[in-house]
Amino acid sequence: MKLSQLKIERQLCGAFIFYLKNNGYVCLPSKNKQQPYIIYHTETPDMTHIIELDQFGHWKIPELLRNVAMEFSTASTPYTPIKKCTKCSHEFNVVTHNFYCPECNEIYVPF
Ligand SMILES: [Zn+2]
Repeated sequence: MKLSQLKIERQLCGAFIFYLKNNGYVCLPSKNKQQPYIIYHTETPDMTHIIELDQFGHWKIPELLRNVAMEFSTASTPYTPIKKCTKCSHEFNVVTHNFYCPECNEIYVPF
């Protein structure tokens, strides 16, 4: 079974690199703009993982980094920009929805 492509949002990539480093991974920047990082675990340096970008600059996560990426996304949930709409109390990701509530179109003002 082919699993669907897991992606890390561009704005979370810095936090993901930090998370990888804390978990024994090495992240080497590469010169290739479409494949900006090569990642491997210090215990398995022969097994490298290449990060590719999609058209929006989000990271496509290789199959073998899927588990650590899932752990990261669970661990980073408190930091994702989920806010409650002041008008209808709907919770939404302000970044993906461009600061507008998808339910009632009320703008979220971050100040
Ligand atoms: Zn709303």
